[in-house]
Amino acid sequence: MHSSLLGAIKSKVSEKAWKTWFISFDVLKIEGNKVIFCVANPFIREWLERRYGKTITRVVKEKLGEEATFEIVVSEEESSEEDQPLARKKPVILSPLNPEFTFENFVVGRSNQLAYSASYEISTSPGRFNPFFLFGGVGLGKTHLAQAIARETLKTHPDLRVMYITSEDFMNDMIEGIKNKELFKVREKYRKKVDVLIIDDIQFLMDKPGIQQELFHTFNYLHDAGKQLVFCSDRDPKFLEGFHERLISRFKMGLVVGIEPPDPQTRYEVAKRFAEREGLELPEDYLRYLASMPVDNFRHIRGIILKLVARWKFLGVPPTLDLIEKELAVPKRSDPTEEMLKTICTLFDVSKEELLGRSRKAADARAVTCYALVKNAGFKVTDVARLLGRSKSTISYLINRGEKLLTENPKLAGELRKLEPRVNYAG
Ligand code: ADP
Ligand code: MG
Repeated sequence: MHSSLLGAIKSKVSEKAWKTWFISFDVLKIEGNKVIFCVANPFIREWLERRYGKTITRVVKEKLGEEATFEIVVSEEESSEEDQPLARKKPVILSPLNPEFTFENFVVGRSNQLAYSASYEISTSPGRFNPFFLFGGVGLGKTHLAQAIARETLKTHPDLRVMYITSEDFMNDMIEGIKNKELFKVREKYRKKVDVLIIDDIQFLMDKPGIQQELFHTFNYLHDAGKQLVFCSDRDPKFLEGFHERLISRFKMGLVVGIEPPDPQTRYEVAKRFAEREGLELPEDYLRYLASMPVDNFRHIRGIILKLVARWKFLGVPPTLDLIEKELAVPKRSDPTEEMLKTICTLFDVSKEELLGRSRKAADARAVTCYALVKNAGFKVTDVARLLGRSKSTISYLINRGEKLLTENPKLAGELRKLEPRVNYAG
């Protein structure tokens, strides 16, 4: 009966779905007219119930009569692979994947072309670019691509065990392991039971040296075994302050790709795609207007569209340019000066105290700050003098020095220029 139940379900789903989702699916037992199935993890159970619940119900009734029901339980087996009856490997996914985060749903433009192609390549040939380090500002699509890699890899290589987690999940898992005196088990899970390990938001581990050390060993173990590693971060690996040098050098030894803020064309297409997905037809000029604003964060654009949709569906208020304008104006950005100081601190690897204090280490950073505050942000020399507790003539000297540093270092000047859409430069 067990195998005929499985066979009947298999015949009703696509080959791909069977290989992806039913790989660990099995009949645990039949109690009266209730069939108890088991799967490897809660996420897959949820997925099966949601997507295939009706199909399974139909088969169960066909085989055991109209009264028959079923239940799916998660098998808690910690058994090693050797003693599994079937040589079927299980996909391991800790965090549920967002069904919208697919390659098909990802709009490719100049700013993310490389990130997209590299991600796609990784999902088709895991292990080829190893590790893959993806970085970029908030809301630019890192998590979207990371999850698309996970999903696509499972699709094209159903036998591979793919794990997508955030670095916070990784940390919690390790801490749990330490608490329960089962660290070896947790280590083994990451080292022996994963073929593709994707860790999102790695910058979260910045000031957590102990967890970094675990990550370092996990990294070496998997990398030596030719397993694919993927990391996402809100910044370039070289700006991961507080990270062990050796870990940073591991991150840099593979493919490092940044996502830049999107150009207007990409913003336009993303906005259009978001609207279409919500069944909202936005007139061309609305989309153009939305895309013309320097909103370099897709989450914000999505938020605006969802609001327009809600008003339209629930209140019957059609979208207007006025509404879009209002929405775009709402979120007040953080203090632009603060933001600039923060960026300069990151670029020069100094703390804010060092920058605003007297430390020699921060001398160059201070000079660039003075230049940017006065020449770009339109501050008065007197104000900067007060901010830094220096004389006006010192500030004038520093402005010149800052200018010289920036001419000598166009890359640095470029980094500061990137701030422009975010900083409300008065000048
Ligand atoms: P990040 O992880 O970089 O902070 P996310 O991946 O969470 O950003 O992206 C934020 C939102 O924008 C998500 O809804 C995501 O689907 C969407 N998004 C980002 N980039 C794109 C893109 N190129 N095409 C379509 N949607 C995108
Ligand atoms: Mg993210």
